[in-house]
Amino acid sequence: MKLWQGAMISLARNEALTRFMQERAPTSGLAARFVAGPEVADFVVTARRLREHGFSTSAFFLGEYVADPEKIAANVQGIRAVVAAIDGGEVDLHVSVDPSQIGYALNDGLGEANTFSIAEALADRPAAGRKTLMLDMEDESYVPRTLALHSALGNRGLPVAITIQAYLRRSAADIEHLAASGATVRLVKGAFVGSPQTAFAARPDIDASYRALAGRMLSEDARAAGMRPVFGTHDEAIIAELRKLARRNGWRPGEYEFEMLFGVRPVLQQSLVDGGEAVRLYLPFGRDWWPYAIRRVGESPHNAWLVAKALVSRN
Ligand SMILES: Cc1cc2nc3c(=O)[nH]c(=O)nc-3n(C[C@H](O)[C@H](O)[C@H](O)COP(=O)(O)OP(=O)(O)OC[C@H]3O[C@@H](n4cnc5c(N)ncnc54)[C@H](O)[C@@H]3O)c2cc1C
Repeated sequence: MKLWQGAMISLARNEALTRFMQERAPTSGLAARFVAGPEVADFVVTARRLREHGFSTSAFFLGEYVADPEKIAANVQGIRAVVAAIDGGEVDLHVSVDPSQIGYALNDGLGEANTFSIAEALADRPAAGRKTLMLDMEDESYVPRTLALHSALGNRGLPVAITIQAYLRRSAADIEHLAASGATVRLVKGAFVGSPQTAFAARPDIDASYRALAGRMLSEDARAAGMRPVFGTHDEAIIAELRKLARRNGWRPGEYEFEMLFGVRPVLQQSLVDGGEAVRLYLPFGRDWWPYAIRRVGESPHNAWLVAKALVSRN
């Protein structure tokens, strides 16, 4: 598995291949499986279709770790386009943002200013439903800054939520604090590797940490404090356990939710909706689709055929 994932990460980082793939029709094959399309209009169309099937969405404008001021500005513009597309009706939209895509990879002041401008624009959009800026969590060097950014936005009354990674040892203390303050938290296992001092590396340890943190998030105390748990996972066993725990502790679907990546385990996604759960899909859009899509393929060797098809197809 590690070998396969490593190979896919190399493909994701190959600049010539990225350019070559992204110049082809971005709405076919591999891209279409994991990404709404190149434009914000593609996001809107796909999000509406998903809504008809019972899903809410998290919009993500593709483009991570950029230190070039022009690219940062383009990312901010892409994110603001989705905020501007909120049309005043009933929405339930999370706008997911990587701090490294909007300035933090260049300097923190710029990153903070850009995040505030996006959060303020989001807060100002007329909408009958929920609209939240969800801060994604990146490598360890970003964790303290992202937590500080989350508090600063929250202290200004802006609609903000944060992602916490179960693979980090510090997350138990972070969840404690966030649960007591009634935050909206998306719990994920973590897509990065840390040092032994700061992180769990073995899969059973990461899963055990996920279960413990999720248990705290679904506690009666957390519910009383107004916490809103979002479980970002495709792990069927963990999902089944959390559904039972939620019922036991008096949570109703919608007070907590599950979030999965668009295109990953669609049958499981639909079965949860059909079973009455609130499910959100993380739906990326934008032209930089190759590194994102190929990393998803790397997470499951079952997807090998998608790469083969993408590399040989002419469209
Ligand atoms: C909504 C959302 C937001 C996320 N945001 C962040 C973030 O901000 N920071 C961060 O570090 N990580 C983030 N992640 C990634 C996360 O940390 C994990 O790396 C990823 O979700 C895989 O973990 P899992 O919980 O699905 O469990 P796993 O144990 O990895 O997988 C559970 C099951 O799902 C299947 N599966 C998982 N991925 C795929 C795939 N691509 N294709 C087919 N099957 C698959 C596995 O084969 C397995 O059967 C996010 C994930 C989600 C769903």
